[in-house]
Amino acid sequence: MTDDFEVVIGLEIHVQLDTETKMFCSCSTDYDDAEPNTHTCPVCLGLPGALPVVNKRAVEYAVRVGKALDCEIRDETRFHRKNYFYPDLPKNFQISQYDAPINEDGSLVVSVEDEDHEIRIRRAHMEEDPGSLVHKGGSIERSNYTLVDYNRSGTPLLETVTEPDIRSPEEARAVVDTLREILEYLDVFDASRAGALRVDANVSISQDGETGNRTEVKNIGSTKGVVRALRYEVTRQKNRLKRGGDVTQETRHYDDDRGVTVTLREKEEEKDYRYFEEADIPVLRTTEFKDDVGVPELPRERRDRFRDEYGVSDEVAEKLTSRKTVADMYEDVSESVDPQLAATWVADELLRELNYRDADVDTVDAQEFAALVSLVSDDELTDANGVEALRAALDEDRPPVDIVDERDLRAATEDETVEATREAIEENPDAVDDYLGGDDGAINFLVGQVMQKTGGSADPATVNEVLRDELDGRKKQEG
Ligand SMILES: [Zn+2]
Repeated sequence: MTDDFEVVIGLEIHVQLDTETKMFCSCSTDYDDAEPNTHTCPVCLGLPGALPVVNKRAVEYAVRVGKALDCEIRDETRFHRKNYFYPDLPKNFQISQYDAPINEDGSLVVSVEDEDHEIRIRRAHMEEDPGSLVHKGGSIERSNYTLVDYNRSGTPLLETVTEPDIRSPEEARAVVDTLREILEYLDVFDASRAGALRVDANVSISQDGETGNRTEVKNIGSTKGVVRALRYEVTRQKNRLKRGGDVTQETRHYDDDRGVTVTLREKEEEKDYRYFEEADIPVLRTTEFKDDVGVPELPRERRDRFRDEYGVSDEVAEKLTSRKTVADMYEDVSESVDPQLAATWVADELLRELNYRDADVDTVDAQEFAALVSLVSDDELTDANGVEALRAALDEDRPPVDIVDERDLRAATEDETVEATREAIEENPDAVDDYLGGDDGAINFLVGQVMQKTGGSADPATVNEVLRDELDGRKKQEG
């Protein structure tokens, strides 16, 4: 036996499709702030006799994803009932797709440490979300009772299943991130919605060419969680194997608070679900959708275009295009200012400040932000004061230019700069003597004094120049 382990990971990525109504009824999916059980009807409550009707928009979205992932899109697709008993599932079955999923055999290219890997997509099928359980007291172990809310019941889901082509937790994260980017570009997914993306991962370790037992890790709710959960699970399995033990085939639950996976139950097999065809929904023909649904520019294409069109580096193009909203913001801003300057302000300053505040780019008005960058571009605002205005604008949720005016941050005029320079010279004779005596470093102290006097609104390079002019003039007079 050697320590030559290979990690084998396959993912099932569930995302809520961003439709206005549910998958099989006309209840609104806009329930995040609603009272429990108010977005329900006989269909999504599973009452006897209620008949499901397929949401046309959800099918359109599924086809769009299928095209973007280079899938074969079936001409005829069917729904099945996946039977299991759980309180969040009022019908005791979930309508899903089984042997005739809408999308099959696609692929996704992900970049890990600057290397492209192709991950095969087995299928991307439609199904419905169950309701949600609310454990009073926080967790399932600690609560005395549990409430159930059916508002989410019937929300359209798309489940994308990869082949076990993933070789590390980091690569798994790249798969989820890349898929999320694409879905956002396709306008079928709202990444800002809590719980809109959930991942299950199948993990096994192969050793000397022999594949070990597989565990399924459930309940991963974020891309950060993907890396944490999988690192934990991979290490756990390797340790068992190193000690000569076996990995039990089972379903494990990822506890995000503790960063660990714990045994949930023995893994169900397909037969446990007693799949049978959903007789209430006729076979769905997709030909019309396939003809009508187009695919917009995707992240990779936009990245390449940004590099060519705006002359930004690979790294900056990547930063700018990973979120559609950021890329849109960049293109808005670069309409009015130099694309390189716009790139610096969006990719560096704005993203850093948003990241620091854990805020989303959606909270920033593109026009207002562009107005700020324009001031910098026109030399009416220094970089430092631009950043100050941006920070305050984000903290106070106000237009940055309002902050510039209120705090009087606009760049000092030349007259103001010259006046402040003369004052600094008068007030600091020692530094002036040092400079005139040949200590060039003394100029930095004087520049600092002028910057202080102008409240940081002077341009340091200009101050340096004006100071030298003034002092060199004196040198000549004295000499
Ligand atoms: Zn309903």
